[in-house]
Amino acid sequence: MKVFRIRNSLSAKRNIFAKAFALFATVIVIIAVAVIPSFADSNADDHESGNKDLNQFLITTPDSDPDLECPSNLNCQFIAGQSSHSNTDRTRASSGPQFKYIVIHDTEEKLARTLDLIQSPDYGASWNYTADVSGVYQHFNLNDDLCYHAGNFYFNMHAIGIENIGFVGGGGWYTDKIYKQTADLVRYLAKKYNIPLDKGHIIGHENIPGIDKSYTQNVHKDPGPFWDWNKFFEYLGEPFANGKHPSHDFSAKQFALINPTFSKNLNTITNASFYEYSNPDIFVQNYNYAAAPTSFTYVYSQPNLNSPLANDPAYTSPDRPINTDAESVPGRAYSGDIVYIKEVKGDWLKIQWAGNNSDGDGWIYNPKDKPVAVHIATKSAALKPGLKSASTYGRAYPDDAAYSGTGVNPQPRSPLEYELKPGIEYPIADMNVVSDYYSSTDKKEIVGNNKYYAIYLGHHFVFINADDVIVKDNPLPKPAPNPGPNPNPEPYPDFGINVGFLTLLDSLLVLAVIIIVWQRHRIKVVRLKQRIKKRITTT
Ligand SMILES: [Zn+2]
Repeated sequence: MKVFRIRNSLSAKRNIFAKAFALFATVIVIIAVAVIPSFADSNADDHESGNKDLNQFLITTPDSDPDLECPSNLNCQFIAGQSSHSNTDRTRASSGPQFKYIVIHDTEEKLARTLDLIQSPDYGASWNYTADVSGVYQHFNLNDDLCYHAGNFYFNMHAIGIENIGFVGGGGWYTDKIYKQTADLVRYLAKKYNIPLDKGHIIGHENIPGIDKSYTQNVHKDPGPFWDWNKFFEYLGEPFANGKHPSHDFSAKQFALINPTFSKNLNTITNASFYEYSNPDIFVQNYNYAAAPTSFTYVYSQPNLNSPLANDPAYTSPDRPINTDAESVPGRAYSGDIVYIKEVKGDWLKIQWAGNNSDGDGWIYNPKDKPVAVHIATKSAALKPGLKSASTYGRAYPDDAAYSGTGVNPQPRSPLEYELKPGIEYPIADMNVVSDYYSSTDKKEIVGNNKYYAIYLGHHFVFINADDVIVKDNPLPKPAPNPGPNPNPEPYPDFGINVGFLTLLDSLLVLAVIIIVWQRHRIKVVRLKQRIKKRITTT
């Protein structure tokens, strides 16, 4: 009996030791998972953005009544903007246009110069936030000032503009910290102003159409091919297509969300100009990337990688060709864009792109080993039966009758070059477009009786009259396509907190199961040994 008691107590001590070891191992795993990425981040973002003496800009000018709108975890400061547009249009009426969009831009300048411009009364643009790895700088009170950053007054009326320090032609500026910081800011603003966290509302400057035919050639290009929209939406907590990965298997009349795997989506980009991230004193011009990780897939004119890029007759001209140049936007479908598939030919998807009828077709390369298209459920708009065409618009301005008696001059509803054609389903980006115009002089908001939808068309959104179309719901194809394992996964855990946290939970679960099994096995062995020992002593 004495031997038995000693062995029991030894076993209990071993159990305590094992439990302590398990607890210790768990703590080590948690610390490792939590600390290693943040250490990596701090290394990745240990960069000055070319800003040698930021303190000279940290002066709040006296006309401001800073109302800092920023999540508390970010390093935010108010640097009052003075650029001219804001001075002529300082007050957003309380009954003025609501925020509907958040526009992601890049500055094409380093931080010091950017802060200089926003404080210059002679500068003809204004925006709400500038951000880089040093933090976020708010320039205007959101509800008092209407900023001019979108190149389209309808979007200026409705959009908050965030300028990240970066370059359309230069990779490296968008670090993990920038994605997280911008996502935190966007999530905060979207919640506050009730803006949906989808690609119909959180948009790039490159998605904004010209105001009319004469402006289509001047559409902007930022944030450009190096902004990883997929990663950004992961950090927003709203991954594209609920995180579903691309598939090769498509058929005609389906819809595809473009979402290539950024790090493996290598594209040629030519004639890029940018400040080097690693050495911001160096300005690089006409740089050619043979194969750079990017967030878009080229849209070709034929199912052939050597064919010219798809045409956008509204954009192109002899001195503005559509090609692989960093700033040539129209030949690219970006992550988050939704397209209508007209035909499938082997590895190629024929899609409705920019332009009308056959000059609006484009081809996307979607091979089995590296697909870029994801099955997506979406609403679509098609011309009403009997209509041969319908106009598209760059601004969702009210019908003329809405101005009656207001003293505000009706704004032209000039159509764009693109027309809706029969037999095509246009994916809808936003069903709840507000038809309105805000007169900053009269401080009057005119709301239209007419209704618009926003659709994806080519590389940007355009507005269409709801009266011209019928809307269809397009669920995922049945049976649900099974793309199998992701043939092209990210080689690094860049899917943000959600997936990272799941991985951590998974690891802890596996560790716990191993410890439990090991413990039970040990107890069994000890008990067996005790029984044998007991039998030996009794016999
Ligand atoms: Zn911009």
